[in-house]
Amino acid sequence: MSDLPTDDLACLEFTPDAMRRMARDVAEALVAHLATLSDQPAVGDVHAEAFCRAMREPAPESPTPLEALLGPLFGEWIPRSYSSAGPGYLGYVPGGGLFPGALADFIASGVNRYTGVWAAAPALVQLESNTLDWLKGWMGFPPAARGLYTPGGSTAAFCAIVCARERLLGTDIRRGVLYTSSQTHHSIAKAARTAGIAPDRIRAIPHDARYRLRVDALDGAIAEDRRRGLQPFLVVSTAGTTNTGAVDPLVAVGALARREGLWHHIDGAYGACFHLVDELRPVLAGLSEADSLTVDPHKGFFLPYGTGALLVRDGQALRDVFGGSAGYLPGSPDPHEFYDPSQHGPDLTRAFPGLRMWLAVKMFGMRRIRAAIAEKRALAVDAAARVAALPGIVMTAPPELSLFAFHLSWPGSTLDDENAATSELLAHVNARQRVYLTGCHVDGRVLARVCVLSFRTRADRVETAVGHLADAAAHVRSARWPAGPR
Ligand SMILES: *Cc1c(COP(=O)(O)O)cnc(C)c1O
Repeated sequence: MSDLPTDDLACLEFTPDAMRRMARDVAEALVAHLATLSDQPAVGDVHAEAFCRAMREPAPESPTPLEALLGPLFGEWIPRSYSSAGPGYLGYVPGGGLFPGALADFIASGVNRYTGVWAAAPALVQLESNTLDWLKGWMGFPPAARGLYTPGGSTAAFCAIVCARERLLGTDIRRGVLYTSSQTHHSIAKAARTAGIAPDRIRAIPHDARYRLRVDALDGAIAEDRRRGLQPFLVVSTAGTTNTGAVDPLVAVGALARREGLWHHIDGAYGACFHLVDELRPVLAGLSEADSLTVDPHKGFFLPYGTGALLVRDGQALRDVFGGSAGYLPGSPDPHEFYDPSQHGPDLTRAFPGLRMWLAVKMFGMRRIRAAIAEKRALAVDAAARVAALPGIVMTAPPELSLFAFHLSWPGSTLDDENAATSELLAHVNARQRVYLTGCHVDGRVLARVCVLSFRTRADRVETAVGHLADAAAHVRSARWPAGPR
């Protein structure tokens, strides 16, 4: 039995009863998936080349009922992935997937209202604008700042670089130089290139012993470029690097940028959420003074992927770049009072990301969200202390926020030995499928790392991670150093 009228081929609307049944079926499948997330492997079988080849198919001419599609989606395809929404995902920077975010997308896609311009859905755009005001408040940005939802931190950085470029270089782009640390996220170089800043105008400033941007080296590099007749215009510092979780000296970088007349962008894609944790305010001091700030609500605010954000202290800078007018475009009654998303970012027609934030914050309340963020920090601190106490572990980068990095070592071990052993350590832990850890290479050294940021990661799973690390460290170390203590 088809849910579509057989005598009206051009009809693409299901009956209300059919829609209700489908929505219930999707909700059932989704909730069944979420309810068993903690039993699912931390990474499914992603060795899937042959599988993916076999999936290729032409677009069908005839309809397929929803049930027949949900089966393989939930049974075969979703499980073949990193379980990035699950409690055991401690690799890279974990994601979220708060349920209100899913509800928001269902509603937003269902009603499909136009939130690109204020005039088309004023009350809905106001909801989004409220959440951007909240974000400004959480980050200590002034009311005159303006924000923008982006698909992620990469696009946020791109928009920030274009704002800085427009403000400080105008059309004289080629002379402009961008400074960032050697530990910066690779999306910065990509965003710079997209924004017309060539690789030979990007300086990767060396890091200090804690993997933080060296301000003295930054100072020197700026002076050197000025001597060469170039025009320093932007410093991108990081609040929470991907490799080791380092927070650059934001106050000192900000002061230097101000003195030198440079724009200071802070990449807080991973770390900015911790500004909500009182204990971490000193670590993130200077964050609120930035000219612009990347926040990734799909990381530290646990929202679904596709929710990045940018805050810009001088909102006019965003409008100067992204403002536009056309004979067919309705304006807002007062562009200063009423926020117009398309006047602040590259997109016109867009999804409705603000509803994810709004629904989540309303349904949980901020007290609970703050507690969840603080708990991730506390779990990482606790885990780091216990991992550091394991024989043979060197805690290379203790947690500044909720990420720590370490490696294996034993008497007489060379760097090559240690790199091989640390990689093996990771492989052992990951093979048990309860937690997923990733490593990184820094200055030729392999580091293992633990990043706690999924709202589903609670004390029990961190306990498992520490236990599996202890087992693996003992195993790897005794194989390589048989004479040592067990
Ligand atoms: C994740 C991340 C990015 C990139 O953000 P996307 O949302 O993945 O585009 C940039 N910088 C840092 C520090 C990150 O952790």
